[in-house]
Amino acid sequence: MKIADTETFILHVPVPGIADSQRSVERIEFVGLRVRTACGMVGTGWFATVGHGAAVVKCALDTLLADEIIGEDPRNVRDIWSRLYSGKGLWIGRAGAVHVALSAIDIALWDLCAKHAGLPLWRLLGGDDASPFPAYNTNGGWLNFSVERLRDEALRQIDDGFSALKIKVGGPDLDADIARVEAVRAVIGNDILLMADANQNWDLTRAQQAVQRLESFDLGWIEEPLHPDDIDGHARLNEACRMPLALGENVYSSHLFDAFIARGAVDVVQVDACRVGGITPWLDVAEAAAKSGLQICPHAGDIGQIHQHLVRANSNAWMLEVIPFWDEGPFEDQLKLKHGACLAPDRPGASTEFGEEAFTRFRVA
Ligand code: MG
Repeated sequence: MKIADTETFILHVPVPGIADSQRSVERIEFVGLRVRTACGMVGTGWFATVGHGAAVVKCALDTLLADEIIGEDPRNVRDIWSRLYSGKGLWIGRAGAVHVALSAIDIALWDLCAKHAGLPLWRLLGGDDASPFPAYNTNGGWLNFSVERLRDEALRQIDDGFSALKIKVGGPDLDADIARVEAVRAVIGNDILLMADANQNWDLTRAQQAVQRLESFDLGWIEEPLHPDDIDGHARLNEACRMPLALGENVYSSHLFDAFIARGAVDVVQVDACRVGGITPWLDVAEAAAKSGLQICPHAGDIGQIHQHLVRANSNAWMLEVIPFWDEGPFEDQLKLKHGACLAPDRPGASTEFGEEAFTRFRVA
């Protein structure tokens, strides 16, 4: 199996208007590539972003990375990853646009490996349990929703079978954050798992005040309270905080994850294959987390498409984050939910392929 050519793309897929403490979002931008082998097999990989920067990532693919895999056998995915990581983009790419472009390539190669094996990726990676995997829903808890809407959305999700929900905090007024959590906890009762996500918007003092006030609501975790590079701050916060601390969606390397784990600065590891450099480093991070007894709940930066496979191949994976924006999504093999759990994908590959109609309709480059 040899790679014959690649084709990069950008898709703009609209989503309902939503917001967290950092930004408002009206579309998901998928930037990535299709990798064709000489025998006509196609693998698809991408990075998903929210409104800016896709053109920069495409430029990194077009000028630094995509040509470098021509003639390679995708099954050498680990060697290819190391060569590209240390290649043309090294001095400008250990995090950010070049690194997420490397994610897209690595994901496309794993998609090809699974298709070549005739297996869904989770089976190729050694997963053996096809039962529904527990999921939690973030789509009812956006920061631009009123308290009334938060309550309604939470009840609707419970009706749909979810027993775990997440809401956004980190707004300008801590009293308002606390009131939102209090209102949702009051309406869902104590048997539903509830998490809160500040999206990095606190400093250490504010975070310490917040976690102290949030402790009475029995949260499953507090997520991204501080800047994602602040290992020491997270370690100090975690020492004094009884609820678990979750982070990882903005941690861009397995080395940084190692440092967070070694310092006791994270409890729930939210490693994202689209950001950490692909499935190859994702697996390394998941193994390191499992060795330290930490649970893995990957960030839904991949919209759950890829992570639904990876959680099935890791013994310490706890829940899959899902954000079901679309009734019918843009993917050929769309993630399927039933009673708050994710059904096992059964098609060969990594579920990264877009439906042909969606690909044409949403493609802008
Ligand atoms: Mg988050």
